[in-house]
Amino acid sequence: MNELPTQLFINGEFRKPAKGKSMPLVNPATEETIVEVAAATGEDVNSAIEGAHRAYRQGWRDLTPGERTEILFNIARLLRENCERIAQLECQNVGKPISDARDEAGLGARVFEYYAGAITKFTGQTIPVSRGGFDFTLRQPMGVVAAIVPWNFPFPIACWKVAPALAAGNSVVLKPASQSPLTALLLGQIAHQAGLPPGVLQVLPGSGQEIGDVLVTHPLVRKISFTGSTAIGSRIMELASRGLKRISLELGGKSPNIVFADSDLDRAATLSPMSVFANTGQDCCARSRVFVERSAFDRFVEVFTAATQQLRVENPTGETCQIGPLVSAGQRNVVEEFVSSARDLGRKIVTGGDRLFDKGYYLKPTVILQVEPNDRVWREEIFGPVVCIRPFDDEAAMIEEVNDSPYGLSGSLWTNDLRRALRVARRVESGVLSINSHSSLHVEAPFGGFKQSGLGRDLGMSAMEGYTELKNVYVAE
Ligand code: NAD
Repeated sequence: MNELPTQLFINGEFRKPAKGKSMPLVNPATEETIVEVAAATGEDVNSAIEGAHRAYRQGWRDLTPGERTEILFNIARLLRENCERIAQLECQNVGKPISDARDEAGLGARVFEYYAGAITKFTGQTIPVSRGGFDFTLRQPMGVVAAIVPWNFPFPIACWKVAPALAAGNSVVLKPASQSPLTALLLGQIAHQAGLPPGVLQVLPGSGQEIGDVLVTHPLVRKISFTGSTAIGSRIMELASRGLKRISLELGGKSPNIVFADSDLDRAATLSPMSVFANTGQDCCARSRVFVERSAFDRFVEVFTAATQQLRVENPTGETCQIGPLVSAGQRNVVEEFVSSARDLGRKIVTGGDRLFDKGYYLKPTVILQVEPNDRVWREEIFGPVVCIRPFDDEAAMIEEVNDSPYGLSGSLWTNDLRRALRVARRVESGVLSINSHSSLHVEAPFGGFKQSGLGRDLGMSAMEGYTELKNVYVAE
């Protein structure tokens, strides 16, 4: 169990790829290669999908809800026992602070517990129809689900796709991002050890460009559940439309953080930096556009900047680290280009903007002021530790500006006026909103976006619905 998982996980065992391809994984904190991991090709994808289909047909779909519950609880238990190992792998692989990685390992286990319990509470309806007879609905599994996940939260996102899909009785082919396959492979192995039949969960590390199309267009794949960029999500939607496959897409964001002068201002300003800089800003829910009511602007910026400068940007293996490196040199370049674009326009960089340390893809948390509504840094998803803060005067005009974005994923709102909180919360176009907090996510509640931030919902019972077809049955009297 303690060796690094480096092969494809197909039909309950680790296996070499058909063409013997591999890809190096680099530790973003040290820039050293950790290990070479097998990269699947089209041939492997086909064999994994066929295996998943066989496993689905030959038993998994026919287990009783109680039997599936037991297996999912076993997976959750083994995940809890392996939390430290999962956290260490994630920390090494994507540079995540070890304390965050531990929280995310626990979150993955919690997701399995939630869906293990949900299986026996997931019911249909009886419907009083106008003919004599009895009408009821069934929620049925779809078959093979392709789950495609990104590198920013590799383990929890894999869990929150795999667990509800399995709970609903589907089999799953999981494709982790090419940069971050280790915990997904471990999940495959642990699920198998917990009693999941071979083939029900296949894990295929590999490049999206190389295997994405085969996976998405395969006729036996009935549903694609994708989290990643809006560009790839839109391509998947196009390809899936040809086979009328079911899709759910969790995509990019440019989430607002709205601060009214009547809020508990110092609390909002002290907590807000982590709403954008956590995970080094590589978070689809990052509150990267801050709107502050003008009378509170100077005080907010002062406290926010001081709190930002106190964040501990350190080696992610250390217990005190709050912010680690970016995931790759490429990602740091992208973020630096955004910062340069703001500098070139003469925007005010109050703190940050520079690299840190000789090794590792670190960048100081960066606060930018005096931006204009058409600036790239204000409009586009940066996916790095950069925030822009602008003052506003009028509530209605501010809401217009908040909604003037192709995205609509998440957001925060700080005020002590209950009526204002409810009024603004209703009008902000986003799938998720938190008032006087910056939490975005609860295992039990739906998570997803409006507009180009996505389609469908992860988590909660909504996700389980999304992994089933609804059947209506009528029995004549
Ligand atoms: P990405 O779109 O490049 O990759 C996501 C996944 O898709 C990876 O597994 C990748 O290998 C795969 N992929 C790439 N090309 C593909 C193709 N042609 N066909 C099929 N799969 C393909 O995104 P990323 O850079 O890994 O992640 C960052 C993006 O993800 C950001 O835009 C972020 O906002 C978004 N994200 C959204 C959420 C959410 O819940 N809304 C959560 C996390 C990340």
